[in-house]
Amino acid sequence: MKVSRRHLLKITGIGIFVAGMFPRIALAARNSIKSMRTGVQPGGKTRFVIETANRPSYTIIYGENTLTVKLSNTPADNLVSPKLASGTLVRGVSQTQIGDAVNIVLDLKRSVAEIPKNQIMILEPNGDNDYRLVLDFVAGSAGANTTAVAATDTAPAEKKRIIVIDAGHGGKDPGCIGRGGTKEKTVVLSVAQKLRSALKNAGFTVYMTRGDDTYLKLNERAEIAEKRHADLFLSIHANANPNRSMKGFSIYTLSEKASDEEAQKLADAENAADKIDVSGFESFSKDIRIALSSLQQHAVAEMSEEYANGCARAFTRAGIEQQPGPAVRHAPLAVLRSTVPGALIECGHLSNKAEEKLLAGSAHQDKLVAAIVKSVKNYNFEV
Ligand SMILES: [Zn+2]
Repeated sequence: MKVSRRHLLKITGIGIFVAGMFPRIALAARNSIKSMRTGVQPGGKTRFVIETANRPSYTIIYGENTLTVKLSNTPADNLVSPKLASGTLVRGVSQTQIGDAVNIVLDLKRSVAEIPKNQIMILEPNGDNDYRLVLDFVAGSAGANTTAVAATDTAPAEKKRIIVIDAGHGGKDPGCIGRGGTKEKTVVLSVAQKLRSALKNAGFTVYMTRGDDTYLKLNERAEIAEKRHADLFLSIHANANPNRSMKGFSIYTLSEKASDEEAQKLADAENAADKIDVSGFESFSKDIRIALSSLQQHAVAEMSEEYANGCARAFTRAGIEQQPGPAVRHAPLAVLRSTVPGALIECGHLSNKAEEKLLAGSAHQDKLVAAIVKSVKNYNFEV
């Protein structure tokens, strides 16, 4: 597991008492507020966004007609004036320094209900923005008593993470077939089954989209991830290329546009299993489309990207050959269309004679599984 900023702060706390023993780098940098804004979301939700230089460590305090976001290790900055949209629950925003934390107090027209976890997001920096803490909320009965719900400041009970493994193809759809007759659907089921037991042994809750030679539609696979409330979705595949010398793994995440021609060809081939139109995101099932605000799509995409990069690193470290070009590519893959972060892992090329032999063999499958398990253990589930 990664050392989170929360842990760093705890280490810093100890460092004060044993000053000198800890190098200066153990001190977490002070955070700073870059901007604040409100907006109206579909369904009449109020959105409040705080942009910060570093990943924010926050606590939310619900009061009568106030909502307080306490950011630890952050100075108040009254030069940052919030941009307030009309039609939200927020009347005004003020800042108060409490020790080394800042209390950002929202003055509300009405009290708000406790914000569900999936309506609180931390977005990673992108081209135009730093970290953003995003809260979406509605009016409700917060009650007369002020209640504090600690978020990242207290260690939560260790949650068993849910992984859904999707063995690609199956039944009437063999996937690609190697020159030696090895079928993708058989290889990936074997890898998926090995992965299931390895992840279970590592303490994860694991579900499979298929545990035998069954045909499932791509959206049915994605829906299993939704229904199981999965934290991560892994679709296991093997590749084929008209150029039989082409070999190596590649990892794919969902995007509306393919990152390159290779990625588009792959999406066409994998999506062909359903012969469905995947020209755009309109083919998301209606429920998923409603659940996916553009912001959530963005958050899911970033988490998927983070996982995919970690997975590619784990494969490389395990000595598994990478397909020439970028290790992580993006494509409009129907099976990845859900609110669950995930990746499609092309384990290697069945069209390559040497790699077909490797992929069909138990030893190489074990190597793939060990690398995937490492990548799942290293993945930061907390966002
Ligand atoms: Zn496939």
